[in-house]
Amino acid sequence: MGIVDAKMKAKTHVLRHFIDLIGFAHIEPCNTSNRPRLHGHNASVTLSLRFSNDEVDWESVQDLVSKAKLIVKSFDHVVLLPEHLVSLHSSHVNMFVGEKRYSFPKQDVLLLKTNSARIDDISRALLGRLREAILVSENSPFDFTIILEVSLRFGLSSTQSLRIQG
Ligand SMILES: [Zn+2]
Repeated sequence: MGIVDAKMKAKTHVLRHFIDLIGFAHIEPCNTSNRPRLHGHNASVTLSLRFSNDEVDWESVQDLVSKAKLIVKSFDHVVLLPEHLVSLHSSHVNMFVGEKRYSFPKQDVLLLKTNSARIDDISRALLGRLREAILVSENSPFDFTIILEVSLRFGLSSTQSLRIQG
C-alpha cells in the first residue's frame, strides 16, 4: 500500500492529437429510426500515437499529423456511401434503398470500400487511407501504434488501431 514498484513504471507513452471536426451525411438506420434514411452527424477525429520507447521522431510525427488532417478533411461535408451499393453515372451517384432512389452529384460523395457507412466503417476507412499515405510515401524508421478515434456528439465512438514497424 502506497509503495510504487519501480519496475511498474510505464515505458510507453502516448501523444494524443485532436485532428479536426467533420460533418457528414450517410444513409443508415439512426437512433430515431430503424430504417435507413439520409441524415447527418458531426464527429471529432483524434489521433493518438503510442510509442514503446522515448525516441520520438518529431519530423515524422508532424508529417503524419499533416497527412491525417488532409485525409480527415476529405471526409468533411460529403455524403459517405458504400461503393458496392451505388451505381455510378457520368455526373452523379445513385443509391437505391428499398423503394427510394437517392441521387447525388459525384463531387458531393465519398465512396467507402466497406459494407456500410456506419461509424466503425468510417474510422476503418480513415485509418486505411492514412496507412496507404504512410506506406506509399515513406519507410517508417520507428515502431509505434496509431490509434484513431471518431466520436459522435452524443458519446458514441469508434476506435481503430494499427501498428507501424520500421
Ligand atoms: Zn447516422
